[in-house]
Amino acid sequence: MKMIKDNRIIQINNIVSIVKLSSLMLTSIIFFWYIFDGKNVNLGLFYTQTTSILIYVTGLGLFLIYFLWTFSIKKFSKRDLKYGNWIENVIFIAIFFYAINVTGGYQSPYKILFLFIICSVTIEEGLKTGLTIASISSCLILFLDLISGSNQEVNTYFQNDIILSGIFLLTAWILGFYVKVEGEHIKQLEELINLDALTGLYNHRSFQEKLKKTILLSKKTKKPVSMIFFDIDYFKHYNDLNGHQKGDEVLKTIGEIVKANIRDDDFAARYGGEEFAIILPETNEEDAIKIANKIRETVEKESFYGEENQPNKVLTISAGVSVFPDRAKDEVQLLKSADDALYRAKFFNKNRVERYKSILEELEKDIEDKDIELVSSVKTLISVINAKDRYTYGHSERVVLYSRLMANKLNLSKKDKENLIYGAYMHDIGKINIPKEVLMKKMPLTNEEWEMLKQHPENGVEIIKTIDSLSGAMPIILHHHERYDGKGYPYGLKGEEIPFLARILCIVDSFDAMTSNRPYNKRKTYEEAIEELKRCSGAQFDPELSNAFIEVIKENSEKFDSLM
Ligand code: GH3
Ligand code: MG
Ligand code: MG
Repeated sequence: MKMIKDNRIIQINNIVSIVKLSSLMLTSIIFFWYIFDGKNVNLGLFYTQTTSILIYVTGLGLFLIYFLWTFSIKKFSKRDLKYGNWIENVIFIAIFFYAINVTGGYQSPYKILFLFIICSVTIEEGLKTGLTIASISSCLILFLDLISGSNQEVNTYFQNDIILSGIFLLTAWILGFYVKVEGEHIKQLEELINLDALTGLYNHRSFQEKLKKTILLSKKTKKPVSMIFFDIDYFKHYNDLNGHQKGDEVLKTIGEIVKANIRDDDFAARYGGEEFAIILPETNEEDAIKIANKIRETVEKESFYGEENQPNKVLTISAGVSVFPDRAKDEVQLLKSADDALYRAKFFNKNRVERYKSILEELEKDIEDKDIELVSSVKTLISVINAKDRYTYGHSERVVLYSRLMANKLNLSKKDKENLIYGAYMHDIGKINIPKEVLMKKMPLTNEEWEMLKQHPENGVEIIKTIDSLSGAMPIILHHHERYDGKGYPYGLKGEEIPFLARILCIVDSFDAMTSNRPYNKRKTYEEAIEELKRCSGAQFDPELSNAFIEVIKENSEKFDSLM
């Protein structure tokens, strides 16, 4: 759109410049006739032919300079030349006024010359400036009539020039009005291009433009910019049951809810099919979360057609919030982190608002200064894994949560607890090299793929082995896929040979895999997962530890429900 707009400005500028240049040429032809045809013209100071020629050479030089100015400088820096334009207009009026004076003053047949400047200014600057120039021109010619022609009995020139003034004003008005109508039309078209037809919110393209601009401005003003990203829960399910038309109605209603809940300066867009994004300039994270919650609650309270058939008996949204510059360095990160937060919200039971939390944030507190940078790299690796594998999103966090509860239950020492939590955060880091297709595969893996997957504990250790602060977590990561009966990997360790903390991680990791969505199988309920733990106790899992974990689940079932 900007390109089209620029192109239009350039084209208008060209037309206006041609009109102005033509008027200049016309004026010089008039001068030429009057001087060289020996007409009786009062040239004031310039009466010899040599001086006339001099005037022409200078005039030609000025003409060339003007030509360059209008076709190069002016074309590209229109906005900065407001004063330049005014000076230009004044010069034109002065030249025309002089030409009229030279060619007979109030008797001059060339008063119509003013029409050139009136037309060009009106096209360029619009109705108001056009009318101003028309008024100035009218005053000038009427002034000439009154001053020079006042000795006549009936001042016919004055009468005629009143009509001419009328023409000036009418031309400016008609042309100005046309320019105004055209401008409004363009504005409407612009809105159409920038808006999403269904919801009336902005569309993806204008959102991207606005985001860039807002971040740029925020860098100057040093004020934060928040971003809310939200998505309708189980919307595919809603569409499947009620049809796309009803789905579209939901999108429309949500668009209206968004509009009603944001402020004038906020910018809401339909980012994708059923995803919405809101830019909140000069807003901190807390306020953004409040706004997101307001929208979420309003959607929850709104009654939608057929929502009783949704999994939670009500149609809801999940939202993620992030803020620049605290949680993101630029617009790309802001979007990514808000999207990340949205996925957190989805995984923690939907119908909720989550802020962006960098994985390992709490871990950083205990890390020695010299390892901070390395841990940041590890963090990046984990976010890459999360992005690769949406199914396991939030998996590390849930495994950490379960591990912490286990550590408390078993009264582990501070050091053991710390190591278990580090290990829980990073146990899958070795999956970084495994292609997305393998991680997300719905069919059983081929032998080759299975071998590749089995290497992830060793690869994980390889990645963090240089970080001293994490050395305690290494055996946990390395052995978290060993089985109590010795049939696990990578070393096939058996029973007590497997490090104690790795035996815990094995149980909590498997439990989360059973109870969350996986590409290859349906998730189990907590009861089903407990049965599975019992069934595999003594074979895959350490029986004592799995019993302890079952107790942990039962004791915390309420807390867990909010995680599902
Ligand atoms: P989740 O709760 O995890 O977000 O599940 P979901 O089913 O909402 O998510 P998913 O991304 O799998 O499905 C998005 C669905 O949104 C797919 C499609 O049916 C629906 N959708 C996308 N764009 C439109 C649209 O313009 N109109 C309608 N009616 N439906 C749309
Ligand atoms: Mg979606
Ligand atoms: Mg959805």
